[in-house]
Amino acid sequence: MKTVFWLSALLVLVILCWGSIMLSYGKNQEANDNQVQPDIEINKLTPAEKAVIIDKGTERPFTGKYWDSFVPGVYYCRQCDAPLYVSDDKFKSGCGWPSFDEAVPGMVKEQPDKDGVRTEITCQRCGAHLGHVFKGEQMTSRNTRHCVNSISMIFIPDSSKDAGRAIFAGGCFWGVQYYLEKAPGVIKVIAGYTGGTKSNPTYEEVCSHKTKYAEAVEVFFDPKKTSFEMLGRLFFEIHDPTQVERQGPDIGNQYRSEIFYVNKDQKKIAEELIAELEEKGLKVSTKVGPATRFWPAEKYHQGWYKKKGGKPYCHVYIKRF
Ligand SMILES: [Zn+2]
Repeated sequence: MKTVFWLSALLVLVILCWGSIMLSYGKNQEANDNQVQPDIEINKLTPAEKAVIIDKGTERPFTGKYWDSFVPGVYYCRQCDAPLYVSDDKFKSGCGWPSFDEAVPGMVKEQPDKDGVRTEITCQRCGAHLGHVFKGEQMTSRNTRHCVNSISMIFIPDSSKDAGRAIFAGGCFWGVQYYLEKAPGVIKVIAGYTGGTKSNPTYEEVCSHKTKYAEAVEVFFDPKKTSFEMLGRLFFEIHDPTQVERQGPDIGNQYRSEIFYVNKDQKKIAEELIAELEEKGLKVSTKVGPATRFWPAEKYHQGWYKKKGGKPYCHVYIKRF
């Protein structure tokens, strides 16, 4: 009789353990389905960040890092580094959380909240919980308030306060940097990587063609002396925009031609320049897409021709406009 009792007790214990293992497996599955796309590198989160980003909690109002900050710059996803908001779209709402009346196009996803009332906003790329969006409050002309937890984001200020900023990819960044640095009104050109999927890529990783990164340059310029349009025209004249995913001897998607716009005006101008070239009969392969986080390349790539002397092997100036 005693044996039967112990056997039954053991059976109950086994069933309970199995149940709880399956329950936690189910929860993990749900978290993974919501959060992680397979080719995205996810940053490690602290318990406080996880409570908001994964478990969809809310930080207390007036406590976050960014609710009353209005420094020019870009707000990126804490979990995957995707650009989410720019400071130009931030406004004082008085609610105690960072408020934006527009997100970077295509980077923030809206979906019905589980509470059945509100609309949740998440990072389009990795699914990180950001907060909620409210419409019809008449707070700004766009009539929209993205109410975002500071802890879901990381802010990077513009490195040169009043400078204009542009990002171009047109083959090997040594050559693009060489020509753009010489253009009047240009303050600084940084060679780097953008448009890819993992944090902090190395040159070797970019060359593996598995990260989707393009070799690119980040240009800071004085808007009183030059403009995005003038630099865009130069960009099309120092590389061959008709080549697809290559530039001369350099072959692969890291050498693609692409303009990463940082605001809507740049998008419009880039599209107009392409249309102008197409009217002249050029079959332009240049893509136009929203700016993603720019990762400066290793030190030895910066100012390559300035340090080594000589002229670019893969870029030559050709008048096209
Ligand atoms: Zn993200």
